[in-house]
Amino acid sequence: MLKIENLHAEVDGKAILKGITLAINPGEIHAIMGPNGAGKSTTAYVLGGRPGYEVTEGTVRFRPTTVTPDLIRGPASSSAGQGSGTPGQARGDEEDGWLDLLAMEPHERAAAGLFLGFQYPVEIPGVSNLQFLREALNAQRKGRGEEPLSGGEFIKLARAQANELGLDPEMLKRPVNVGFSGGEKKRNEMVQMGIIGPKLAILDETDSGLDIDALKTVGHGINTIMRRPDRAVLLITHYQRLLDYVKPDFVHVLAGGRIVRSGGPELALELEREGYAAVAA
Ligand code: ADP
Ligand code: MG
Ligand code: MG
Repeated sequence: MLKIENLHAEVDGKAILKGITLAINPGEIHAIMGPNGAGKSTTAYVLGGRPGYEVTEGTVRFRPTTVTPDLIRGPASSSAGQGSGTPGQARGDEEDGWLDLLAMEPHERAAAGLFLGFQYPVEIPGVSNLQFLREALNAQRKGRGEEPLSGGEFIKLARAQANELGLDPEMLKRPVNVGFSGGEKKRNEMVQMGIIGPKLAILDETDSGLDIDALKTVGHGINTIMRRPDRAVLLITHYQRLLDYVKPDFVHVLAGGRIVRSGGPELALELEREGYAAVAA
């Protein structure tokens, strides 16, 4: 679903990413762990297309289509299918279904099925959560060639997701994230993800600052929304604790702008035990 090859990127003329190579198949959850300043957030920003993050070398290709079962690895087993197909208008279109992600605008990436969750979710005064989510969902549906949802259908969906993820449905009426606590912002982010139903979610430090209940909600959200054969997750986290709730198929250690080690879930435990310095050396 995602193929990152030899990705180099700089910010303000400073080289931050120095050759990241990573492949994510449908159905897989990958964790990127690493010390502060390793380039974890930079990786998320580059994949999301944030201005100011300049790619100087390498490629990123994204194939959000539903794939044939023999390509699917991992524990996922049920309910593939819904919403497949290559988005028609995306600029990165290529014949084999692989999109040139770096050639696409951020909104095109989102419409193609990429979801980004950030460490510090933005507040949007004056725009209600419901308005924001409906726009976001309908943009993605348009990208898939589907009709927009009616207001009634949308509100039903949003309420169901809020209930599922422990967010007071009244918060859906409030301006996006304005005055939300840290935990509420993260629950809200999970509700966004549940409504949008992305193909690939990149979640940057989505566990930071959460109490144990919010952490469980986030874990439950990731598992129920994204653990499917046609979806995948790149989970960026400094700490192992979220991985108690979301079991990754692969763990990668990022240090100094490079992936210095990859392994299974046991690598996260080794990091927790021995520290980054020992493992990334
Ligand atoms: P992580 O998320 O792994 O903690 P970041 O991707 O945030 O790391 O940062 C990686 C490196 O890039 C750090 O050394 C940081 O200081 C540097 N960096 C991030 N943003 C900028 C910027 N706007 N200008 C210069 N350096 C930056
Ligand atoms: Mg940091
Ligand atoms: Mg970071």
